Amino acid sequence: MQTEAYRLFGYSPQQTLNIAQNLYTSAYVSYPRTSSEKFPPQINYRGILEALSKIKKYKKLCEALLSLPELKPVEGKRTDPAHEAIHPTVEPPKDVKKLRGPEQKIYDLICRRFFSVFAKEAIRESMKVLIKVNGYRFSTTGRRTIEKGWMEFYGPYAKFGEIILPDLKKGDKLNVKKLELLSKETSPPPRYSQASIIREMEKRGLGTRATRAAILQTLYDRNYITGKSIKVTDLGLKVALTLKKYVPDFVDEKLTRRFEKDLEKIMEGKAKKEKVLKKAEKAIIKICEEFKRHEDKIGKKLGKAIIQTQNDKATLGPCPKCGKDLKIMFSPRTRKFFVGCTGYPKCKTGFPLPHNASFQKLDKICDKCNTPIIRVIRKGKRPFNMCLDPNCPTKKDWGKPKEKAKKLSKGKKKR
Ligand SMILES: [Zn+2]
Ligand SMILES: [Zn+2]
Repeated sequence: MQTEAYRLFGYSPQQTLNIAQNLYTSAYVSYPRTSSEKFPPQINYRGILEALSKIKKYKKLCEALLSLPELKPVEGKRTDPAHEAIHPTVEPPKDVKKLRGPEQKIYDLICRRFFSVFAKEAIRESMKVLIKVNGYRFSTTGRRTIEKGWMEFYGPYAKFGEIILPDLKKGDKLNVKKLELLSKETSPPPRYSQASIIREMEKRGLGTRATRAAILQTLYDRNYITGKSIKVTDLGLKVALTLKKYVPDFVDEKLTRRFEKDLEKIMEGKAKKEKVLKKAEKAIIKICEEFKRHEDKIGKKLGKAIIQTQNDKATLGPCPKCGKDLKIMFSPRTRKFFVGCTGYPKCKTGFPLPHNASFQKLDKICDKCNTPIIRVIRKGKRPFNMCLDPNCPTKKDWGKPKEKAKKLSKGKKKR
């Protein structure tokens, strides 16, 4: 679900989990923190489909499934002793349109996925064509859907490229219309996205279905990684390298994987928890001792990296008046963050920052007033970009927020 929601809507795994959690607490879907790919019959396939057939857009799909002689889900390999795969419940929302936008989307995804596991296979055809031109062999492949099967039920989420080739028979003679000489290079594999890194963690047995999204979020929050296509920050890299050098067990995948497996075994009743705890204790004591022994060196290395990173993060760009760096600063007098010029006291440029918000630097400059632009992130609100200068022409039409910002900028000058 996390992978699909990322592919289709661009939601981060943590976002998707939060949305699904809301749907779960409203009793619209089953428990979302599961790694199962199975639907046991006890969940009452027919009952769920009958309930969902009351929703207009699902009526036809549900009726088609209900008319099948037997409802048998296509299941994946993975099981979860505690929960079945995510599915809609027998109590759908009274009015789907009243759900919040993201909840509507995730709910639709869960329902359509549920429908499609009961549907027939889709039939696809592919055709490979080999063409000889002057003794050189060229090839191309065409693909098309012959019978939609389950794709009909998965609806807009089932996307397979159709490459339709003309009708060709073996031995056909073709005319060469155009020759093109292209020079191409192979490109490196793409960076991980939040969805693909979670898949990779799953593959390597790191984290659990309940913790993976949170682990990723922690890496972002601590500033070890950044961006939608994930980049490791300097700080992240230094932490990883320093720990690897001095306390290799600390960052060892094998150790983590072993403990995740042991925990699972406890859950399945195949291991004694006392024994696992003893083992964990031993491993952790060893790590702590190693850490203690190298504490000074680790501290020095990381201290530098942290200061460097914080400095980078707080430096927003050049001052429009004097060209020195503008930085996010904290005024102990007003107990507020503001943006000040590092050329102070010579340069008195300063800008207020909105309350109760966090900021991201963008390395962009306003083309109206040459002031750096930042991204403002407020809890529960849509993030937006703005130029730091409250009097910038781009903010001419801002109503109240501008008045507020002006007041702030006055208060700030006596720092
Ligand atoms: Zn300045
Ligand atoms: Zn501006």
